[in-house]
Amino acid sequence: MNSSVGELIRSAASAYRNKVALVFEDERWTFAELDRASSQLAGRLAHLGVVQGEVVSLYSPNCPEWIIGYYAVMKLGAVVNPLNLMLTPDEAAFAMSDCSAVAVIGSADKLDALLPVLAKTKLRHRISYRGKALNGTLDFDELLQGDTVQAAHALIQADSASTIAYTSGTTGHPKGAVLTHRGIMLNTAMTATLHLRTSSDVVVSALPCSHVYGNIVMNAAIAYGMTLVLHASFDAGRILESIQTHRATIFEGVPTMYMYLLEAPKLQTADLSSLRCCTVGGQTMPEAKMRQVIERFRCPLIELWGMTELGGLGTTHSAYGPQVLGSIGVALPHLEARVSDPEAPDQVVALGEVGELQIRGPMVMREYLNRPDATAQTLTPDGWLRTGDLARMERDGYLYVVDRLKDMIITAGFNIYPAELERVIAAHPDVALVAVGSIADDHKGELAKAYVVRRQGSTVDADTLEKHCRERLASYKVPRAWQFVSDVPKTSSGKIMRRMLHTIPAQV
Ligand code: ATP
Ligand code: MG
Repeated sequence: MNSSVGELIRSAASAYRNKVALVFEDERWTFAELDRASSQLAGRLAHLGVVQGEVVSLYSPNCPEWIIGYYAVMKLGAVVNPLNLMLTPDEAAFAMSDCSAVAVIGSADKLDALLPVLAKTKLRHRISYRGKALNGTLDFDELLQGDTVQAAHALIQADSASTIAYTSGTTGHPKGAVLTHRGIMLNTAMTATLHLRTSSDVVVSALPCSHVYGNIVMNAAIAYGMTLVLHASFDAGRILESIQTHRATIFEGVPTMYMYLLEAPKLQTADLSSLRCCTVGGQTMPEAKMRQVIERFRCPLIELWGMTELGGLGTTHSAYGPQVLGSIGVALPHLEARVSDPEAPDQVVALGEVGELQIRGPMVMREYLNRPDATAQTLTPDGWLRTGDLARMERDGYLYVVDRLKDMIITAGFNIYPAELERVIAAHPDVALVAVGSIADDHKGELAKAYVVRRQGSTVDADTLEKHCRERLASYKVPRAWQFVSDVPKTSSGKIMRRMLHTIPAQV
């Protein structure tokens, strides 16, 4: 059987030919057009000598060319390496050399920035779009024109590598997760089925297709004949306009996006009545904020939990089951979930107790590329993926993320979970966004420090928020330092980087 992620666009094109698959700014692409363009590019890549199993990096903000490049590489049986937009040229060169990429397809400005570090890579070809092609760079549009070249129909095994995806680097150095065609295709199918996503859905998203969340949103939309209204970057006003103009049925975002949407002046007048649901994932979203979204957007907010190492979701709420606010739901079909002692990964803890969430099944990555030590620490001999997330499973099987193991703050021997503090602080009506990090302390080891973005027009002060916390938290958990900020450091997908909070200049 030919099992390539490239089949997703091929079969969608035969079912939905002239339907609009993609809206990007003022461009419209039908399923047939995306399919034809990606086949043509696959043929060109084959002609250039790129063969099955070789790696091709993709490097640009969201745009049709990124999607065409993605399916072209998949159709060829080559391996996609989606590069994170926030990487410096040196970091991008490191990733491309780590995965031995032979070609890169990207926007002219991104490829331009790579020039000084090219020698560190094994790139044979550079293909650029949206800007003047540079010397030695092939022009994407030209490759799509001219005679049709068909790549020989490669036989692609379901368990061969489809993707080398680097983790977000939220907690440290990114690692390259090796994902299979089977894993991505299963994850796409499960995500669509569980949320009852169909060809009548119109999805608005500004999540980067290069990140696991944006990638699964893209694959599900393409595979199931939806129209994807894709934004190159997140702007709250433009997203609200887009939902209204395109009568979107689904919006998908990380928690920070919802915080900005709730604060956007346009929210007062936007018509969001077409939305049937929204999804949120990537980071814990305080329940108080989730409730505000549900109330204001007048639709369910489905939480999903995913990881680069799974090529998509690990858990979510099914449209067939109850939505439990604050829970990340249950494991996807084909996946098993268990909660174990972080010190003894084979020991499952009792229901209701906190431990490390582990996931097993066909969507789990094969390994971290070139990182046998990290692989051995993360994948147990019997195939469980240690997620690094602390969670508890309740009697009904629903899972609750407590926090990341690495983000836990230890103050005078007591464990503090920043996510718990963030939940409490975010419930204060004057708080738009909050992130909790740690600061070193000679006596207690570490102390919690809260970085708060006030709601527009609010002048709430640290004393008030501290009092709010004292009424709701044990005193050792109450943050010992407060700072009011206009924003917090985020990854390219909009996740708060707690480990970068200390780089915010202190108030004077
Ligand atoms: P790195 O592994 O490089 O530190 P990262 O873990 O942020 O980066 P991703 O693969 O993008 O890289 O993110 C997966 C992580 O995101 C999960 O392990 C979990 O900590 C967090 N996450 C995802 N969804 C949720 C959710 N719904 N609630 C809480 N946390 C979530
Ligand atoms: Mg991770």
